[in-house]
Amino acid sequence: METREKIVIIGGGFAGLQLAKTLNNKNKKVIIIDKVNHHMFQPLFYQVACGRIEPSNISFPFRKIFQRSRNIQYRMTEVQKILPEQNKIITEDAEFTYDKLVIATGCKTNFFGNKKMEHLAFGMKNTQEAIAIRNHVLLTFEKLIIERKRSDDGNWNIVIVGSGPTGVELAGAFSEMKKDILPRDYPHMNFENLNIILVSSTTTPLSMMSEESQKMSEQYLKELGVNFMSGEMVVDYDGDKVYLKSGKEIPANNVIWAAGVTGNVIQGLKEDQVVRNRYVVDRFNKVMGTENIFAIGDVAYMETPKYPQGHPQVANVAINQGKNTADNFLKKSEKEWTEYEYIDQGSMATIGKHRAVVDLPKLKFQGLLAWYFWMFLHLMLILSVRNKLAIFFNWMWSYLNKDSSLRLIILPNKTNNTEQ
Ligand SMILES: Cc1cc2nc3c(=O)[nH]c(=O)nc-3n(C[C@H](O)[C@H](O)[C@H](O)COP(=O)(O)OP(=O)(O)OC[C@H]3O[C@@H](n4cnc5c(N)ncnc54)[C@H](O)[C@@H]3O)c2cc1C
Repeated sequence: METREKIVIIGGGFAGLQLAKTLNNKNKKVIIIDKVNHHMFQPLFYQVACGRIEPSNISFPFRKIFQRSRNIQYRMTEVQKILPEQNKIITEDAEFTYDKLVIATGCKTNFFGNKKMEHLAFGMKNTQEAIAIRNHVLLTFEKLIIERKRSDDGNWNIVIVGSGPTGVELAGAFSEMKKDILPRDYPHMNFENLNIILVSSTTTPLSMMSEESQKMSEQYLKELGVNFMSGEMVVDYDGDKVYLKSGKEIPANNVIWAAGVTGNVIQGLKEDQVVRNRYVVDRFNKVMGTENIFAIGDVAYMETPKYPQGHPQVANVAINQGKNTADNFLKKSEKEWTEYEYIDQGSMATIGKHRAVVDLPKLKFQGLLAWYFWMFLHLMLILSVRNKLAIFFNWMWSYLNKDSSLRLIILPNKTNNTEQ
């Protein structure tokens, strides 16, 4: 007869993984459920999309992470419904009961209800999507060299929508690819015609960062030859052209959508327990109106005096909410629980080699030093020594050779031929 408390965690992202790791080998039975079999380090997806690092370098199989755990089990399945009255969840394959449930399902790309855009543009919220971008962009150049069809202008524009860290990092990486790699891979083609276009509704890139960082990032984008279209709203995309509110049109076959995210809310809780697609939680991350359901990370909405509109959806908040919630679960009684308080440790972004911007609470800096700082911090955050070394090696190789050798196009078989 099981006497340990049973905690079910939905999602093994930054929040869910931190929670599980803190509960590892403690007197709790923990089941972590995720629809994919690995934890993903999302801040480096853009490097997978540009063929700089291998997906395996930033993907960590859950079974490997908890290989030696005595109390944590992993199940790969998608949770479809929560039945709070029965302390049960329904997944695509099975049902699980719980004493405590923690929802850590993060976000998905927000296409603001535009189904065409969702179907035709690329999001970058999981490993498969990052690989899909890499395949599609590389295939464009393969098609170009065979067809030599200058008439299809769409092939010559890579459009990135949204100028947050993901958008500017992608734009910087693609322009370096244009300058250093493509002319070597395709010596008979003239890549001067290739345009990297960053469309933004704001007037400067990285609008959530300091003024210095916004200014510098704009300058960096300019130096790298990125066409930064500010104050422009994308209203539609039909696979051939991107349509802007101002009436302008951009022919484009490669469109990457980095303009927003929305929470992965699961069916089953009441409408008033969800605000803007995030679960409303108290300062202990307990979902309002429940006794044993918690939400942490991007999908949690917690109002505090410092953050009356909820916390930013960043890795740091997710990790710390996971840690705080686990620490609370390990205390003897709820009276001893600690409220969550976010300590902002700053933000940063890199825009190509030797160019980055860093905003720390008491210090802001840009340029080469910021770039080294960005690399060091990301290396430290990567799980496992093996992956740290692999990424470090890839980065050094690209740094010294201005190249990487990871531009593989991996597609499923075209036919379903069963003949041997
Ligand atoms: C491209 C990109 C770059 C980013 N760069 C930065 C950065 O530089 N710095 C920063 O601080 N933040 C960055 N972020 C944001 C950061 O990654 C998120 O804030 C963080 O991942 C949130 O953690 P989480 O655990 O809440 O959700 P996630 O890490 O998104 O994890 C959610 C998990 O839940 C699983 N899941 C979802 N629904 C279900 C379901 N129904 N059933 C089972 N499993 C489910 C998913 O498979 C996933 O594993 C970036 C995000 C992206 C997409």
